[in-house]
Amino acid sequence: MDGRSFSEIHSRWFSPIQVLELDACTRCQECLNICPVTAIDRETSPMDRIGDWRRIVDRQTGIRARLFGRPSLDEKILHDLADSAYACTTCGACGVVCESGISTAQLWESMRGAIVDLGGSRAGVFADAAERIARFRNPYGAPQEKRSAWIPGDIVIADAAPVAYFPGCTVSFRQPEIGMAALRILQSLNIRFCMLGEEESCCGSLLFRTGHSPEDAEVIRNLIQAVVDRGVTTLLFTCAGCLKTATTDWPRVWGGPLPFTPVPFAVFLRDQIRQGRLSFQSRIARRVAYHDSCHAGRHLMHVLGRDQAFEAPREVLRAIPGIELTELRTNREFQICCGAGGGLKRKSPDLALAIAGRKVTDVRETGAEVLATTCPFCRRNILDAAGDTLEVVDIAELVAEALGLQADE
Ligand code: SF4
Ligand code: SF4
Repeated sequence: MDGRSFSEIHSRWFSPIQVLELDACTRCQECLNICPVTAIDRETSPMDRIGDWRRIVDRQTGIRARLFGRPSLDEKILHDLADSAYACTTCGACGVVCESGISTAQLWESMRGAIVDLGGSRAGVFADAAERIARFRNPYGAPQEKRSAWIPGDIVIADAAPVAYFPGCTVSFRQPEIGMAALRILQSLNIRFCMLGEEESCCGSLLFRTGHSPEDAEVIRNLIQAVVDRGVTTLLFTCAGCLKTATTDWPRVWGGPLPFTPVPFAVFLRDQIRQGRLSFQSRIARRVAYHDSCHAGRHLMHVLGRDQAFEAPREVLRAIPGIELTELRTNREFQICCGAGGGLKRKSPDLALAIAGRKVTDVRETGAEVLATTCPFCRRNILDAAGDTLEVVDIAELVAEALGLQADE
């Protein structure tokens, strides 16, 4: 606890509203019916997490603590708190159904931050990733000079431009096919755009989702400055995790509204279609279901609006000739998380995979042959669960295919 009291640490991480939220849980159990973790492991529940945390706060700050002194927060207590706080994808579904209106995803992140400050472990996997981000500027430990190695040589990237594309670490180092589709689309539209090249670094998603303080995020501040220095007004994202982080976390790091607008690539595509600037060459005669990622959907529906969060990607899919769009049993703000979020895939890969397995079952029930998404993490985790029984693609890949673009080289 580095000399700070429990109260100091708690006030640093929990806003006054969040302190009230801890008391607002009525134990109605609604959240248990939607939580993808509880569906697999009945011992873990968002309701109990709130109850456990409230008990700790009472013991540390209540009248007994003032009269008789605070009980020590031993390792076992911190370990149990961390175990519960990190057994969660931070998908926020529990918050959507919560009858007390608790903003659960933010509450879990505050708990994680406080646990780290209290001396609890962020869980080794996250500490390792944080170290790799500090050292290599990406969570995979890949050499920074290889960040742009996937970009085809014939793509023209301006030094500075009002439009920029931010692929993020996962696309650059793990799923370049998504980035290539995006670049080929931009190229076919003759749009002058820039990228950050070796000045790009991790957006900070993993850090923020797992208990890292935005005030300490010097690397993110430099990243935002690199965007500003290029005169960017529109920053395009094909990664839902980067998009959410840029939209909700970067302003906290920057200390106010960003001087540019983070835009989901699906919204950019939808706008191009509406303006008649995309002319599709091929039919994609397949039944396609759309998976709303938590980061680009539920987490941003109150920031970007439902139209951008939920409807724009569907409008893009409906515009592609031949595609028959079908809906999953749960969709939009009620969609069930793929299982990869909140660091769960790193911390508990088997649990993350089991959650994705349920998603694959949902897709099969619709008869869809293809699952489209806008999140590389969802794409990876669902693919890991489905093997070669289901095609899981990014919307940009489908659009590139329908435009007749060669997006694999
Ligand atoms: S955020 Fe998602 S995974 Fe976490 S407790 Fe809520 S519903 Fe469960
Ligand atoms: S839905 Fe909300 S009020 Fe009900 S048990 Fe869950 S956290 Fe508590």
